[in-house]
Amino acid sequence: MSPHKLYLYNSLSRQKEVFEPIHPPHVGLYVCGPTVYGDAHLGHARPAITFDLLFRMLGHLGYKVRYVRNITDVGHLENDADAGEDKIAKKARLEQLEPMEVVQHFTTRYHQNMQDLNVLPPSIEPRASGHIMEQQQVIQRILDAGYAYVSNGSVYFDLALYAQNHPYGKLSGRVLDDLMATTRELDGQEEKRHPFDFALWKKAMPEHIMRWPSPWSEGFPGWHLECTAMSTKYLGEMFDIHGGGMDLLFPHHECEIAQSTAALGKESVRYWMHNNMITINGQKMGKSLGNFITLEELFTGKHPLLEKAYSPMAIRFFILQAHYRSTVDFSNEALQASEKGLTRLMEGIRTLNRITPSATGTAALEGFESDCYQALCDDLNSPVVIALLFDGLRHINAAFNGQGSLSASDLEMLRRVYHTFVFDILGLRDEQAGDNHGELLEYLIGYLLDIRQEAKAAKDYATSDKIRKKLSELGVDIKDRKDGADWSFRSAAQ
Ligand code: ZN
Repeated sequence: MSPHKLYLYNSLSRQKEVFEPIHPPHVGLYVCGPTVYGDAHLGHARPAITFDLLFRMLGHLGYKVRYVRNITDVGHLENDADAGEDKIAKKARLEQLEPMEVVQHFTTRYHQNMQDLNVLPPSIEPRASGHIMEQQQVIQRILDAGYAYVSNGSVYFDLALYAQNHPYGKLSGRVLDDLMATTRELDGQEEKRHPFDFALWKKAMPEHIMRWPSPWSEGFPGWHLECTAMSTKYLGEMFDIHGGGMDLLFPHHECEIAQSTAALGKESVRYWMHNNMITINGQKMGKSLGNFITLEELFTGKHPLLEKAYSPMAIRFFILQAHYRSTVDFSNEALQASEKGLTRLMEGIRTLNRITPSATGTAALEGFESDCYQALCDDLNSPVVIALLFDGLRHINAAFNGQGSLSASDLEMLRRVYHTFVFDILGLRDEQAGDNHGELLEYLIGYLLDIRQEAKAAKDYATSDKIRKKLSELGVDIKDRKDGADWSFRSAAQ
């Protein structure tokens, strides 16, 4: 296990806490996944990347993480899941498809987008439609505990009764009076004892396609229920981390706490984590505002608001340049600045592979590696790590240009840090390299230069000249230093 202490901000206590898993080295992580009735957009990229960073970091620190991210595919309703038309069925009707065709189509596209963004797949990706039984079991337990009631074939959570006996609103800070004031008059309201009660099971109207039999009616589960059922099924009744976007904090996660407290007699989650939202040119993203940009549109540049296409890594890097609890504002200027920064970082790493060590180093790099760990262990402070990595580029470029030098141990440390943090933990890819051939090539050239150096030291000048000549023919220039050699690809202009 790593010696680094990880601090995470817990939305429940509203402070940073030292992360201590319930059953170390195992960690249970649950994150609310997408509702699959449309293409993934920027709003999907942020939680995916935030919790991918957490997943990678926990793994790097030596934890064995079971990461569960669900797919919502049971046809929830448009208005807070309690009323309106079923979103998936609506799409199916418009496209003349089976609802499950819609689900499969957008799930496949979501996976492709995630792969493009270099988001690792979760350990388990359960679908709500595959866990109807488990959801009905949770409903039955809540009914048995007396915190739900059946009304006209639907089952509602009795929030007023629950709030009398439990501290409702501890996550969001909202109280029932607030809820009362903001609850809209929606269909099915007359079935509820109180307007703020929420559905655990809804009786299906005749036109509702996605429906399952139950003891109460043929119908479908309420929106908040699937996460309670699937998280506790795969991670246990008590698990470590539940994450999601800030927009899910209320009512979704507040309702999850109420459901698990009512059904299981306890709260299931130790640490609640929420990523902040994305705005576009200072505005909230919304279909009606015309600034709703899908990931596909970003990658291809096909949207009126976009000046050009942005690569998946530019998007990923841009999101990581902000702390996950800060807002991020998308604009062409900001994205292009990010793109340039990423190019500079990747060039620096390629340069790092080409430097040979000097007998003594001039760079002051004490604490560089531990500073990087400290930043990420401070509630995943990715912008600070990125700033440190940019700082380090100065030493790399100075050593390469002969204005400084790096000792063998500094060079080894820098290669380890850049590789670990940039590729393994921040999950960035060198898109220019395309695959790992670039890295392999640089490694091989470095290896040949090491052999050449050994040959020179043994006064075997025939071998050292042969290597220099061959590399030169292949367009690699070698610049000898007194204790080694640097190299570069000869550019076409020369
Ligand atoms: Zn959820």
